[in-house]
Amino acid sequence: MYLRRKHHRKTIMAKPFPESWEEIIRADVPYDRLLKPVERARLREIIAVLIDEKYWEGCNGLEMSERVQVVIAAQAAVLLLHLDSADYLHNVRTFLVYPAAYVQSQERVGSDGLVHSGSANLGEAWYNGPVVLSWKDTLEASHRPGRGLNVVFHELAHTVDMMTGSTNGTPSLRHRDHYQSWHRTMSEAFEALRNRWASGQRDVIRPYALTNVAEFFAVVTECFFDAPRPLLASHPEVYEHFSRFWGQDPASRQWS
Ligand SMILES: [Zn+2]
Repeated sequence: MYLRRKHHRKTIMAKPFPESWEEIIRADVPYDRLLKPVERARLREIIAVLIDEKYWEGCNGLEMSERVQVVIAAQAAVLLLHLDSADYLHNVRTFLVYPAAYVQSQERVGSDGLVHSGSANLGEAWYNGPVVLSWKDTLEASHRPGRGLNVVFHELAHTVDMMTGSTNGTPSLRHRDHYQSWHRTMSEAFEALRNRWASGQRDVIRPYALTNVAEFFAVVTECFFDAPRPLLASHPEVYEHFSRFWGQDPASRQWS
């Protein structure tokens, strides 16, 4: 089974990248232009695999289209560029896409456009569950990188966090020696962030991160990929850990 899948992926990646998808990236995914040529090539391989392997379903009247798939898969692919351990999001089978914000029993889209579960304790229930996205907010985030707001980065950070079996804000780090320093750095940053917002100061990490450690990881992931220079400037140790984990240095990209 595993070998067959591996072979199938190779076939998918070897196919020429459709021109229609290329056009969608040009029009709707400006993040692509921040990447190095080798990363842009890899991005396209990951997009092709995600579109092929996942179920894509439109909800509440949203019609699934190549555009919806490519815009979501491209942003997912940014996270996965150097994270082979995620194995193309092995714990995600389905992307459910709503036209805009919606309300549902277990998950909701907040006024910030992000999808949240009722409780981070639902980690087990979510495992292998669908990723739920609002198309309006997904598209807006894709068109406006640099603000540290991206619903796809946010939700998929939760997914990657869940790969350990528990949603606790600590993903499966690359080396066991990294954990102690990770925990210390994140706890200190969490406390510092709480104090900053409590005393009326602002921070690149928005206060929703203080909901719990899982949200902290998801929100910081948004900043790391989407507002990396402010994150590096204000939280260098957090940035360093995220850089090691995701295998990327987004602050070095040519942000205009
Ligand atoms: Zn969240």
